[in-house]
Amino acid sequence: MMMDKAYISQIRNDFPIFKQRIRGKKFIYLDNAATTQKPQSVIDAVVSYYSEYNANVRRAIYALGERATKTYESTRVKVAQFINADDPHSIVFTRGTTEAINLVAYAWGRHNLGPGDEILITEMEHHSNIVPWQLAARDTGATLRYIPITRKGVLKLDKPEQYFTDQTKLVAINHQSNVFGTINPVEKIIAYAKHVGALVLVDGAQSVPHMSVDVGELNCDFLAFSGHKMLGPTGVGVLYGKRSLLESMDPFLGGGEMISSVTMEHATWNEVPYKFEAGTPNIAQVIGLGAALDYLTNIGIENIHRYEQELTRYTLNALVSIDEVMIYGHSPAHGAVISFNVADIHPHDLAQILDQVGIAIRAGHHCAQPSMRKLDVPATCRASFYLYNTPEEIDCLYKGIKKAIRFFK
Ligand code: PMP
Repeated sequence: MMMDKAYISQIRNDFPIFKQRIRGKKFIYLDNAATTQKPQSVIDAVVSYYSEYNANVRRAIYALGERATKTYESTRVKVAQFINADDPHSIVFTRGTTEAINLVAYAWGRHNLGPGDEILITEMEHHSNIVPWQLAARDTGATLRYIPITRKGVLKLDKPEQYFTDQTKLVAINHQSNVFGTINPVEKIIAYAKHVGALVLVDGAQSVPHMSVDVGELNCDFLAFSGHKMLGPTGVGVLYGKRSLLESMDPFLGGGEMISSVTMEHATWNEVPYKFEAGTPNIAQVIGLGAALDYLTNIGIENIHRYEQELTRYTLNALVSIDEVMIYGHSPAHGAVISFNVADIHPHDLAQILDQVGIAIRAGHHCAQPSMRKLDVPATCRASFYLYNTPEEIDCLYKGIKKAIRFFK
């Protein structure tokens, strides 16, 4: 399917937020790596749950409870299909990527790591794929190691034997950087990890919403991602794990519904994935995520990826034509995230000027301070796209940057 101008305009019509004006200007949203906007169908799915069949899941033996459980569980099947997992039981609902990674760091890490073991991550991770491993290393005596990055925002993988050793027990890697836009060669990294017998967790927060990610093909052990970055509500994310691994792991949180039986002395666990879904889950949000997956599937994730690639190239071409713009992230495999600075204008000042003309970009360290240190900058500006963005919006960004340069001269 061609995602041409008419088609994008049709897509934009599905997003009520774009009907409003910001400061009297058309709203241009370029902060999709932080969170994405929601189509009416997702909003409707959440409203319909609360207004038509609000009930707890997996415990209410009446019509509403059955409908809630059925719809909630149907999202699990849709998620499995979306990432090509052959078993919906390998899909655990979490609050988001952060919780999914913490789940592995606690439920797997605390029981399988010890002194002499190594956890291998990279210098381009989001804090949510750094701090849980720092805590796990601190608590278990394991060592945390980093694959370095170049100043171009690319992993230095020329001597893999330096990093992938017999001590490596777990490799946790960002599929796509939320700072540089770099799409990492996860297939290669998974092969290196498997060669030394390590497990692999892929942080798919920035990849799953934007490209086809096939866990069957990748053969990763875990994949984490967030619903709110793929048109879904906040408060819902996914941990995919190989079923045998999930079964071998202890629970993360204890509480209702994650048990098989409880005595005064001890408890036994429910089957996976319920073992990892203690308490009342985010039902409306999971249902909303189901509607988001329907929306994305209907358009086709490959079409979305292709369109975003065009938009990214268009933006990079526009930005490199401005002498004062410095772009960070020069990987040939580049997703729809562009970090940059403009002369010596502080990123917050640029973001504020762009906000005056209705353009929302991100300015800051992007929860990736080690990456910022590597670049020797405290912060960058970041423009990130999704299926509803247009070349005309990029033209506005270009004009806004030119205006800021004139303003600060
Ligand atoms: N990893 C990456 C690469 C991210 O970009 C983000 C969100 N910016 C996260 C993890 C954390 O996601 P969440 O806040 O939804 O848990």
